Amino acid sequence: MEITAAVARGAGEPFSIEKLTLASPNADQVLVRIVASGLCHTDLVTRQNFPAGMPIVLGHEGAGVVEQVGSDVEGIRVGDHVLATYASCGTCAQCGAGRPGYCAQWAVLNAGRFGAESPLRAGEEPVVAGFFGQSSFSSHILTAARNLVVVDRELDLAMTAAFGCGIQTGAGTVVNVLRPERESSLVVFGVGGVGMAAVMAARALGVGAVIAVDLSAARLEVAREVGADLVLDGGRDDLVERILETLGGGATHALDTTGHAPVLARAIDALAPLGTLALVALGESTLPVEVAKLIGQGKTLRGSIEGDGDPRQFIPLLVDWYRQGELPMEKIVRTYPIDKINEAVADSESGAVIKPVLTFD
Ligand SMILES: [Zn+2]
Ligand SMILES: [Zn+2]
Repeated sequence: MEITAAVARGAGEPFSIEKLTLASPNADQVLVRIVASGLCHTDLVTRQNFPAGMPIVLGHEGAGVVEQVGSDVEGIRVGDHVLATYASCGTCAQCGAGRPGYCAQWAVLNAGRFGAESPLRAGEEPVVAGFFGQSSFSSHILTAARNLVVVDRELDLAMTAAFGCGIQTGAGTVVNVLRPERESSLVVFGVGGVGMAAVMAARALGVGAVIAVDLSAARLEVAREVGADLVLDGGRDDLVERILETLGGGATHALDTTGHAPVLARAIDALAPLGTLALVALGESTLPVEVAKLIGQGKTLRGSIEGDGDPRQFIPLLVDWYRQGELPMEKIVRTYPIDKINEAVADSESGAVIKPVLTFD
């Protein structure tokens, strides 16, 4: 069938809106008409760093309506509204344990399908599809039933599309990894979409003290609106002292969404004894850590991908929270029609928008 997609053809090149041809679903696949797709930082990093894998259709926060299901698919019907998440095999030990983010096949299943393997063509030319099992910068995607969560038809798909990656990552890291309690404290370093979701989740859990740190005054203002008790400019020299003082000796929990080594160093310093810092952003490939600080104060560094949980259980929780007003997505989402994707990218990179979401007619 003919579809419309935003294609990445080279590092640094703008996305081009193109008519492509998509194959019919296999027996185990679902064809989804995309209504909305979040734009995640990982899409832009991939566009810059993997020119050999181009042309590619990126996008991995898709939401839409099921148009066709393969003959082997169970539990998904034509007309279902769905949120799409990352791919996992469903059969390895980690998938079996409810931790599909650590699936043994994760890298292969989420890199996309290349060359003759791809169901997507620009004329005769293969276009990489199935990025994160999706490639949702597209009017239609082919995906596995396992990558989909069926939602209520009344749910606003533009406001909830990002549950599949960014929001799941921020909220999931708080709920599933850090697990703060009411008397705990959480400091979130970097309040883009992931950090905002962490702030919202901490507020929903009733965490006693939530501090947001960022370089952008505008983002900090929004962080305050969505639940931060205190917001601090990440550029201030006394940042760590201020956190230690405010929290009476440091944070029990912290989350870094920046991936920048100097920020990580300060985040470690801002922890109370026995505190835990969760890392979710790929940035520095290696991290100089003063080991004595970890040992002497019993601090934990914990990496985490996609919020650690099982999306098919965790995304419905996010949907419930959204309905109850605990995830005020309208304060962070701005929608752009798909043909304005390059504007969305520019606004994302300048910090003018926190969570860009692309929409299709
Ligand atoms: Zn697996
Ligand atoms: Zn993402």
